[in-house]
Amino acid sequence: SKAKLFDEKSDTKTSFKDVAGLEGAKEEVQEIVDFLKNPEKYTSLGGKIPKGALLVGPPGTGKTLLAKAVAGEAKVPFFSLSGSDFVEMFVGVGASRVRDLFKQAKEKSPSIIFIDEIDAIGRARGKNNFSGSNDERENTLNQLLTEMDGFGTNTNVIVLAATNRADVLDKALMRAGRFDRQIFVDLPDVRERKEIFEVHLKPLKKAENLDVDFLAKQTPGFSGADIANVCNEAALIAARKNKKAVNKQDFLDAVDRIVGGLEKKNKIIT
Ligand code: ATP
Repeated sequence: SKAKLFDEKSDTKTSFKDVAGLEGAKEEVQEIVDFLKNPEKYTSLGGKIPKGALLVGPPGTGKTLLAKAVAGEAKVPFFSLSGSDFVEMFVGVGASRVRDLFKQAKEKSPSIIFIDEIDAIGRARGKNNFSGSNDERENTLNQLLTEMDGFGTNTNVIVLAATNRADVLDKALMRAGRFDRQIFVDLPDVRERKEIFEVHLKPLKKAENLDVDFLAKQTPGFSGADIANVCNEAALIAARKNKKAVNKQDFLDAVDRIVGGLEKKNKIIT
């Protein structure tokens, strides 16, 4: 029962069309797509292609989705791992996983490496040793820095990392030639929530008069992941009642259920 650490797939299925809202972030990652597709265009004048970018924003806002869409748009393989996989790992394992990951990505370049929850390995060193596994975390972080410094500008592997706490990250990660770009992925506003609803309503059999503007207005503070959840939950609620289509009331019930869940989650945290 080994944890699945990186799944490599040419995730050509995910594209920018799947990512609703996030216009600014999409514009910024479009440049990364272009680096992957036409590296010579950028290096011909002596420029260096960036090695990494940090996607910063609250949970569920589409950071993973955006990283997959970059791979999909550039038609390159997507290698990923999550920082949380490295918590409680035996000595040396974290560093060797990082080494393997970069080795595979380089073999299949051009490619994308995605590191979710990078804060779990990339927290500032030498502070707050709660877990007792700080040494191993530091080894893993050091290996990551070594790998990023080690590959040349013509390797054409771009590392995207996601975090909701850029402030706790070790400054060494943000140095030039590492994650020297930050791309902000915020909670959606009402207009963006409507767009996200439209993406996730597509597969549903919905009542004809369903008002998407109304749904967007009813869901302030919801992330894209919450909205995806609402749509799925509404479909299940309607099905349970043997309905032929999902209507407004099913969505309102789903919103209530998700809000209830969010409140519970927040209670545990505070
Ligand atoms: P975390 O920080 O918790 O890892 P994340 O920012 O990486 O979250 P994702 O895992 O990309 O968020 O989002 C989870 C799911 O929510 C996506 O697979 C998608 O179904 C939906 N979703 C989130 N944001 C968007 C969006 N902007 N457009 C469409 N769907 C979205």
